[in-house]
Amino acid sequence: MRNIKIPGLSLTHTINSIFCIGRNYADHAKELNNPVPALPVVFTKPVNTVTFDGGEIIIPTNLTQDVHHEAEMVISIGKFGRYISEAEAMDYVSGYAIGIDVTARDLQAALKEKSQPWTLAKGMDTFAPIGSFVPAAEVSDPHNLNVKLTVNGQTRQDGNTSDMIFSIPALISYVSRFITLHEGDLIFTGTPAGVGPLKNGDKVVATLGNNLSRLSVSVKEI
Ligand code: MG
Repeated sequence: MRNIKIPGLSLTHTINSIFCIGRNYADHAKELNNPVPALPVVFTKPVNTVTFDGGEIIIPTNLTQDVHHEAEMVISIGKFGRYISEAEAMDYVSGYAIGIDVTARDLQAALKEKSQPWTLAKGMDTFAPIGSFVPAAEVSDPHNLNVKLTVNGQTRQDGNTSDMIFSIPALISYVSRFITLHEGDLIFTGTPAGVGPLKNGDKVVATLGNNLSRLSVSVKEI
């Protein structure tokens, strides 16, 4: 699975680590009754979560009955770095895409209650659909991009990356203090408000910016 090419990039990254940022939009933290964090909330997803445009989100109904969409801007890292300063951080971004941090909300709530990691709620197969990447050089202001998601044509999420609590340089600098970043690492940058449930047969479309990156997936319960 590590040899997946990131679609849309002429650079032939293979996906390495997948980092995700939690509670990076105040309106989303509020809707789940979570505090706004003082430092970025960081977790990871295994690479088996990745699926691409035209794919399926598979929900194992024996494990969860409440799976939510979280539309997010995803950034790809283009080169190796550690202790990256905020001033240099944008030089490490190779591209941007829309992605969905699919979350088994019921399982996550149970794990949170027991102070256990979220891995199982966030890491099931197909729980990270990702659209095509647009090269970073073609995006003039990644801190002003719409993050939208519709389910069966109805708008569920309609946010903007300008509302992120921690900016792209802040996230890259922070993560790289703890973990060396490599070419092909991805960072899901957090979701705006409007997260909600997915059901069998749903058609989900998510976009970044003015269709800079687009993702269409269907939902299948098993
Ligand atoms: Mg998320």
